[in-house]
Amino acid sequence: MLEDTTVDVVISGAGATGVTLAIELARRGVSFCLLDKLEVPFGGSRGKGIQPRTLEIFEDLGIVDRMMLAGGPYPPQREYRDDGSYAESAAEANEAPTPSEPYRSPLLVPQFLTESVMRERLAELGGRVEFGCELAGLKQDEDGVLARVATQRGERTIQARFLVGADGGRSFVRNALQIGFPGKTLAVRAVVADVFLTGLDRNAWHRFNEGSMERQLALCPLVGTEMFQIQAPVPLEGDVDLSATGLAAMIRARTGRNDIHIESVSWASAYNMNARLADRYRDGRVFLVGDAAHTHPPTGGQGLNTSVQDAYNLGWKLAAVIDGAPVALLDSYEEERRPVAASMLGLTTRLLDAMKRGDNRRGREVQQLDIGYPESSLAMECPERSSGLRAGERAPDAPIRLISGHSTRVFNLLKGTHWTLFGYDVSRDRVAPRAGLHIHTFGARGDVIDDGGHFRDAYAVGTGDWILVRPDGYIGAIVANEHVKSLETYFQPG
Ligand SMILES: Cc1cc2nc3c(=O)[nH]c(=O)nc-3n(C[C@H](O)[C@H](O)[C@H](O)COP(=O)(O)OP(=O)(O)OC[C@H]3O[C@@H](n4cnc5c(N)ncnc54)[C@H](O)[C@@H]3O)c2cc1C
Repeated sequence: MLEDTTVDVVISGAGATGVTLAIELARRGVSFCLLDKLEVPFGGSRGKGIQPRTLEIFEDLGIVDRMMLAGGPYPPQREYRDDGSYAESAAEANEAPTPSEPYRSPLLVPQFLTESVMRERLAELGGRVEFGCELAGLKQDEDGVLARVATQRGERTIQARFLVGADGGRSFVRNALQIGFPGKTLAVRAVVADVFLTGLDRNAWHRFNEGSMERQLALCPLVGTEMFQIQAPVPLEGDVDLSATGLAAMIRARTGRNDIHIESVSWASAYNMNARLADRYRDGRVFLVGDAAHTHPPTGGQGLNTSVQDAYNLGWKLAAVIDGAPVALLDSYEEERRPVAASMLGLTTRLLDAMKRGDNRRGREVQQLDIGYPESSLAMECPERSSGLRAGERAPDAPIRLISGHSTRVFNLLKGTHWTLFGYDVSRDRVAPRAGLHIHTFGARGDVIDDGGHFRDAYAVGTGDWILVRPDGYIGAIVANEHVKSLETYFQPG
């Protein structure tokens, strides 16, 4: 038996979800063990589409520029006709940034590069993944969780206040807690493979036989690497040859071309698509995040994004409760995130049905910018608003100027682990300073200036309005000056 460890949080699974959670805890000084049963990081491209809302989160986590360096924009879609000619169209709605939405186009980054950038950030913050550590058992009581971990050198135990299952679609944690995972198998099986090949140019996402589930084939250049990702539906039953020879035969059969040669296969898998949602996201001191809580078809590139945002929602709440906040704050995790996943299941299944008909168009809904929690118990309005930005919605960006003369953006003021309170044409001394809260005021004697009126427009504020932004960039409260004392009850419920 190896030495026992005691930490605040055990995170089982170090995919994109687990590492995001670890970053959130590390930057708040919470102790954790981040475990993965793999001996080395996973090397497949899988979730390669990073949506605009996730880019905003990456900006907050300090990794958006590195992510852009690792990846690149989506290439145009090149749809081939039977005679070999083709038509090209923009892959996604690549719209120009606006003052309130600085990222409007998705970024293409192979998942193993995304995870590598995340691990680098975690290392900067003093954290690391413990590879070769498999969660093999867990027991909880009122005070904590005992995790049993299998390693090549023997078993160890970790005592923690909380445990989070970020352990993917086949989640050990979900099964150990006997949390149901209802939904359906979508009767679609597909191949995904990362290959080195010659014969195709890297300036397009090559698509053959759109609309035919028997012959469809997509070859996407994996930006940041020399590889292409192959995606193709395959029959539900029977073996699939995932070797270079087998994949080359599939390409020949589906394209009629002899000039595309596979040199080697880096990673390949055949998987069945599912749409499933965990019955609960929490059991006492144990939580589910990411694919452990929901699995969707890959259409629309939502899975990794939704998963990262689960971790981003849970991270600050866990840290706050460990720091003494009321434990009821943790109830808001499932309350806020489970409905998001439920609607994502519907969206990705609809997109899968459209793809079967050869329709690969994507709308604003895949960008995840309109996700919010207006029904949340953490959303407060005094008085209730009937129009404009609502409590619970995403806090928009806006170009502003500091009184020192420097131009900046609202997102720069939000960046970090704190809460932020903006007052519009108010007297700053109406609110007492408190730990973990940054206060900024616009107007006479304010420290920020809304030169272009972008803040006023995006936040729909007028004289005397106060806007409280949560650490994860959603509006916690909007209160008028005469109700400003209600912010005290917001921070100290019960
Ligand atoms: C073909 C394909 C294309 C996709 N495209 C997109 C896309 O464009 N955009 C998008 O957003 N999503 C996409 N996805 C989905 C995305 O890959 C997943 O949503 C994402 O990987 C979920 O991350 P996760 O960290 O929750 O789980 P995983 O990535 O599955 O990571 C779970 C980790 O837990 C570890 N683990 C498991 N059990 C244990 C245990 N008992 N102890 C310790 N460790 C354990 C595993 O080794 C693994 O490293 C795609 C998926 C596929 C298959």
